[in-house]
Amino acid sequence: MRRRLSGHGASRGNALGRARVRLPHRLEVEDQRIGPAQISGELRRLAQAIDAVREEIRTLRGRLQQGTLSREVGEFLDVHALLLDDPELRRGLDTRIRGGQGADSALRAERDRLAAAFGDMDDPYLRARIEDIDLVIGRIHAALHRHDDTLQPVAGDILIADTVAPAELARLQAQGVLAVVTAAGSPLSHVAILARSLQLPLVTGTSQALLQINDGDVLAVDGDSGEVIVEPSADDLRRHHARRQAHKREIRQLNRLRREPSRSVDGVDVRLWANAESVQDVAHGHALGAAGVGLYRTEFLFLGRRSLPDEDTQFRAYRELVLGMTGRTVTIRTLDLGADKADASGLMLPDEPNPALGMRGVRLSLAHPHLLDTQLRAIARASAWGPVRVLVPMVSNGEEMRAVRQRLQLAVEAVRAAGHATAASIPLGAMIEVPAAALGLSGFIGQCDFLSIGSNDLLQYLLAVDRGNEALGPLSTPLHPAVPRLLRLIVDTAARHRVPLALCGEMAGDPALTPMLLALGIGELSMHPASLLPVRQAIRESDIAALRRRCASLLRCADTAAVSRWLQRAQPVATRSPAASASRSR
Ligand code: PEP
Ligand code: MG
Repeated sequence: MRRRLSGHGASRGNALGRARVRLPHRLEVEDQRIGPAQISGELRRLAQAIDAVREEIRTLRGRLQQGTLSREVGEFLDVHALLLDDPELRRGLDTRIRGGQGADSALRAERDRLAAAFGDMDDPYLRARIEDIDLVIGRIHAALHRHDDTLQPVAGDILIADTVAPAELARLQAQGVLAVVTAAGSPLSHVAILARSLQLPLVTGTSQALLQINDGDVLAVDGDSGEVIVEPSADDLRRHHARRQAHKREIRQLNRLRREPSRSVDGVDVRLWANAESVQDVAHGHALGAAGVGLYRTEFLFLGRRSLPDEDTQFRAYRELVLGMTGRTVTIRTLDLGADKADASGLMLPDEPNPALGMRGVRLSLAHPHLLDTQLRAIARASAWGPVRVLVPMVSNGEEMRAVRQRLQLAVEAVRAAGHATAASIPLGAMIEVPAAALGLSGFIGQCDFLSIGSNDLLQYLLAVDRGNEALGPLSTPLHPAVPRLLRLIVDTAARHRVPLALCGEMAGDPALTPMLLALGIGELSMHPASLLPVRQAIRESDIAALRRRCASLLRCADTAAVSRWLQRAQPVATRSPAASASRSR
């Protein structure tokens, strides 16, 4: 029977295919009773799962011994290895299975028993160990169900899942998956950014997806509107095909702008850069006339790997990027792992209650200097092949910039001493994405050769709205009056000190927001290549001097509705509605 679900369109494109539902791994398993004949099989299954986890921990530990990861992480793994073989846990599981419980429900029961016992302890350190128990039991549970991995989606499938990891997306696409629909997530998450980069349609925040969609249902997915139709009717199919045609027409029209300048009606040139996550993005950005790469997110090189990429591996990836841009500047951002960009093994990152406010970006790099130095040496070597800049994520103070600058200098010297060529100088810039960095910018701008506003995180931290939490929906809006005011402060500080400034968050790629960014005085924008032409078109229809005259009234707006009205009036083309991006830019 036809059903219509709605989520948020997070990556454009339409897909028609069959559903492949992946249920989340949860320990909320049904009470599961087994007969005497099943006991030995269930004990064997559990023992194999525990062996697999022990092996997993051993391999990870081995990587630590190669010096790639921190001592703290090693200690953390040692605790997990001890818990895994804890005689009390093993006895408890054994007794429960022999008593007729399946391995899954035995695991859940033991987890609950241990949680209650630890929860009653006075010592806060011991109380906190329940997180380790959860991790270990979660790993055993995942290993018990490893055979589920064979239920991989295949070509023509549309994956329905609670969430997907950024590292999974490219593999899914290579397997022929046509689109992804998630129950959780938001268009500002890194998964969404990567899906747009891969041009894989994605709908996030479809809360009913796991309840209403069954394996094998036929679906029509619209990554623009966020509409998911289960068992589409003849009308739906007609609409689906019409949308695909319209999309193609739009692309044909925009393609006429490929060789045109990004010049406003009053003759001001705006620099448009490409955000790149892959060599395809580089080629795409280059073909559409991007000024260079304004943001290369290196963490995607690190995700989904079994070991950290060494200097040579990184150097080759960066050189490819530089060569692909044929002399245009490439901005390589140092590792920004953390928060929703956890690495697949979970190894790099401490288990933190608040990862978005924790060890991420430059904090993680400075806590693992070996990691940062390897990356800086690789970048320094790539700089011999074309102009390269280094961009530092999650900066909140000048000490961080000073520390990275020193390490960059040392990396360049080390690379030269090893006989490699490097550029004469490598500009170093800061991402302004922490409100404290925006407000305190004048205090450390002397450390910065250039700046790039990361509006995704800036919004998250300014508005106290988790960028990955769909439930907060309209609260995550670039139209909150605090956003243009803070952007204006950054623009003024950069202009006063004559430091080049770009904006590289998702706001940059939303043509509905272009008039606001131009009015605020932002003259460089870096975005996913697919947005270059729509934004170029918006610039070519704008009168920047007139918009700047209206900046004061923008900054006086009292609330989101007022900013929205301001933007509506500022739209150069009557048909373009800012409503598309009123709650979230994408
Ligand atoms: C940002 O925060 O706006 C940004 C560009 O960085 P990322 O999305 O990778 O956090
Ligand atoms: Mg960011």
